Amino acid sequence: MSLPILAVGSVAFDSIKTPFGEASQVIGGAATYFSVAASFFSTVRVVAVVGEDFGEEQMRVFGGRPIDLAGLERVPGSTFRWKGEYGFDLNSRETIYTHLNVFDRFEPKIPEEYRTSPFVFLGNIQPGLQRDVLDQVKTPRLVAADTMNFWIERALDDLKQVLRRVDILIINDSEARELADHPNLVKAAQRIRAMGPRILVIKRGEHGVLMTRPSGDGFFAAPAMPLETVFDPTGAGDTFAGGFIGYLASCGELTDAALCRATIYGSTLASFSVEDFSLGRLLTLTRPEIDRRVEEFKKLTHFDVV
Ligand code: AMP
Repeated sequence: MSLPILAVGSVAFDSIKTPFGEASQVIGGAATYFSVAASFFSTVRVVAVVGEDFGEEQMRVFGGRPIDLAGLERVPGSTFRWKGEYGFDLNSRETIYTHLNVFDRFEPKIPEEYRTSPFVFLGNIQPGLQRDVLDQVKTPRLVAADTMNFWIERALDDLKQVLRRVDILIINDSEARELADHPNLVKAAQRIRAMGPRILVIKRGEHGVLMTRPSGDGFFAAPAMPLETVFDPTGAGDTFAGGFIGYLASCGELTDAALCRATIYGSTLASFSVEDFSLGRLLTLTRPEIDRRVEEFKKLTHFDVV
């Protein structure tokens, strides 16, 4: 039983500089990475906006997959653009620019047939727009959301309103510390759960992921797969979210065990995403490759107490 996922977020042109090279005006955006990753498990209904410069060639990124584009608007103007530059060890990233362009005037309109979607993913966009999406959907089973320091610093009140309506928040460690205004991640997690989300997933880059267990019984931790080839971490977080929510939608369960497995599927998808610039690796990925790497994850952390 696989349940459809409504996903809202950015579709973008990214420019990226890493110690291994540069890519200019390549396809990116939270909704793009999320939907391609989640489409390995379930149907994704995308709500986003692009400008006239996002043509048929760019649209091919979504092609041949269970991705419904009835909610992807094309309007006059330029597509959202973002540029990021990574440090030597790829753990630090500086945003060089964020041009909202068509996102500045975006008013998400959820198509009628999307409104009863059982799973909703609010990608990293203005919290006010995330709220507008929630106002248009009817009693979803699960609402997951992402955000980033850009919005924590500029729209905290709106973000806090959204968090009251979110079941799972998926953010990185520095964002968790900033949102909670506490340097300790365990304390930060307690504070953030008090803002609304039952479950908090903290992404820690090459150090993996920490998830608070829904039963309230501590954390589940997953490492990141040690990889020989890491070219571009951009979109790893959104790809993680796509694998995580996609897996949950495909199994239809929200138990501790299912959430732990979802963490591994999310980490697996993210480990492929970083192996090439933009969505290069995700677009050639196959389900058997995903399943093989999930087995490698099992070996990575399994040990016997003798
Ligand atoms: P991640 O590496 O998972 O944090 O996601 C990077 C993606 O998020 C890039 O493809 C960007 O286009 C997109 N992005 C960066 N900043 C923003 C923003 N302020 N709002 C929406 N999307 C953004």
